Amino acid sequence: MTDYGTDLVVYAIPLRTRFRGITVREGVLVRGPLGWGEFCPFAEYDDREAAGWLATAREQIGAGWPAPVRDRVPVNCTVPAVDPPRAHAIVASSGCRTAKVKIADHPGSLAEDLARVEAVRDALGPGGRIRVDANAVWDVETAIAHITEIDRAAGGLEYVEQPCRTIEELAEVRRKVEVRIAADESIRRAEDPLRVAVAGAADIAVLKCTPLGGVRRALRVAEAAGLPCVVSSALESGVGLAAQLALAGALPELDFACGLGTTSLFTGDLVDPAPLPADGYLPVPRTPPPPAPALLDRYRHPDPTRVTWWLERYTRVSALLDG
Ligand SMILES: [Mg+2]
Repeated sequence: MTDYGTDLVVYAIPLRTRFRGITVREGVLVRGPLGWGEFCPFAEYDDREAAGWLATAREQIGAGWPAPVRDRVPVNCTVPAVDPPRAHAIVASSGCRTAKVKIADHPGSLAEDLARVEAVRDALGPGGRIRVDANAVWDVETAIAHITEIDRAAGGLEYVEQPCRTIEELAEVRRKVEVRIAADESIRRAEDPLRVAVAGAADIAVLKCTPLGGVRRALRVAEAAGLPCVVSSALESGVGLAAQLALAGALPELDFACGLGTTSLFTGDLVDPAPLPADGYLPVPRTPPPPAPALLDRYRHPDPTRVTWWLERYTRVSALLDG
């Protein structure tokens, strides 16, 4: 058995705005033969689900990534559930030509969703692309009604991501709306990600190598799914985000902007310079970027209880992978 855990650092980085129900991103940086990787499964994931996240870190620090076919990838900016002036400012200052907008953040949010996508369209102009993410909260009827209205207010949507929870619901919505459907949670947490394509449930697969277990595994999933892919972040720091950029760099086809411009959601990063897009692009790394010592010090987790929780989780999931 390879000794991967020669160095472990538990970090906590505050987010600028509440996102995906969290205000602080936590995880563990792991040092191995090739550099640093990141283990940051969300708190609600059980050990079995978290194993994929650790496999991704191990690939990064132990095996390295397949060779890329491009040097840089286009990315979208991310607009959380903020008011229209803030949404406008995020898009205008990003330099990105594609915006991903969080909608359906809470029950009764439709009026806010419409105002937010209108502000985003105003900031992007007619040539920009707007995608929205509902994170699986709608039933089929609500999805159909809201997608139609949001598509109109946005002046056309590129796609809507995971409007409903189940594959069957996605397939039904997809038959009844004009807007393309992207599957995210259905790919990430499914026992069989390929069922999404087989069921006719999506036009696009949102691909995150971090939960899937690495760049190589994600490339196999992409090939088997046979759908255009959008590589998206799992809210990693710059250390873990590098694996996602390596995936985006290695995919044979890349027709859509990637959802990897998420560093701006954080108050800071562990890598210096942080992976912030320039002119809407991020570079594809060849090797894992190291964390900066001063930033490791700044974001080292201050709560010993949480540090213990993460280290115990890391140890359990390591045992699971090695078992
Ligand atoms: Mg999503």
